[in-house]
Amino acid sequence: MAMFFAVLSACLAAEVPECGPVLLVGQPFASRTECDAGAPRVAENWLADHPGLAQDGLHCAALADLPALPTRQVADGVHVHLGPPFQFEDSPDGWIANLGFVIGRDSIAVIDAGASRRQGQALFAAIRAVSDKPVSHLIVTHMHPDHAFGANVFAEAGATIVGHARLGDALQSRGPVYLDNLTRLYSPAAMIGTGIVLPDVAVAGSLDIDLGGRVLTLAAADPAHSDNDLTVLDRTTGTLFAGDLVFRDLTPIVDGSLPGWLAWMDAAQDAGPIVPGHGPVARDWQDAIGAQRDFLTALDHATRDALDAGLPMSQGVPAIVEALQPFAGRWNSFPDSAARDATAAFKELEWQ
Ligand SMILES: [Zn+2]
Repeated sequence: MAMFFAVLSACLAAEVPECGPVLLVGQPFASRTECDAGAPRVAENWLADHPGLAQDGLHCAALADLPALPTRQVADGVHVHLGPPFQFEDSPDGWIANLGFVIGRDSIAVIDAGASRRQGQALFAAIRAVSDKPVSHLIVTHMHPDHAFGANVFAEAGATIVGHARLGDALQSRGPVYLDNLTRLYSPAAMIGTGIVLPDVAVAGSLDIDLGGRVLTLAAADPAHSDNDLTVLDRTTGTLFAGDLVFRDLTPIVDGSLPGWLAWMDAAQDAGPIVPGHGPVARDWQDAIGAQRDFLTALDHATRDALDAGLPMSQGVPAIVEALQPFAGRWNSFPDSAARDATAAFKELEWQ
């Protein structure tokens, strides 16, 4: 499949301009000649919607020459990109989350979009290397930027954006801060063109999506890892995309409800393979959640011990972190994450 795309070099005005490549996914071309002729108009239209950015250059690229994320097929028609399981502070680019896509007879659903427009573009190129079917849906598993911030690539490609019923509010209240933080951490150029995209479809309870002979069942969870976690089950192969309801290798982060997360794990799901939000693909439920349940159970116990002892938060949090030290060698990016978890758990359980 010969396919060409216009690639714009877009710059933020600054003393030293910060520029990055913007892949214009909305308009593929069948040949380089057609791309050369059509690219200026496509770039002009895109820039008209992005008033903060200016054009520095424009060229046409063949699909095969675009940067693409490595992906692997974990079940028939189910493709996964595995992010390195480290937290932002230990990552050079923030491209840490697992991402995936499922190919049906008629269309493709993407599960999570990456940490920036640039990562979303690299995921899009990986998808197009495998299939030229339309991308009908982007399913965002939750609000965190490593999963959500490549979304506008897929919106421009024509996808319907699907998320938990609480995802929209969460992105509106926390998205701008996330974007500021990642821009500071990685550079304005690395985040060029990244925007906050609200879902078109909000899932409360569950929703089936039909890709043509292939149904995905989406399930909205109660507060657990975050307050807007959504899982995706491919009924054809039994593959479950768990989002950050399952961490492997990377220290789990509690940003929703610790008791809620423990309760979610108690309801075992007959699925496999299971794609976690971070870490390697698991073959079944026990393989997926075993280590995480041990860690979160220990966090719960240590927090209740600190509260039972009447410790104030200033002493309770270090006591919880100390109690979790036996887990330090088993989980990546442990120190910062354990301290965050201890604080979150203390604040939540204090009121119970
Ligand atoms: Zn997350």
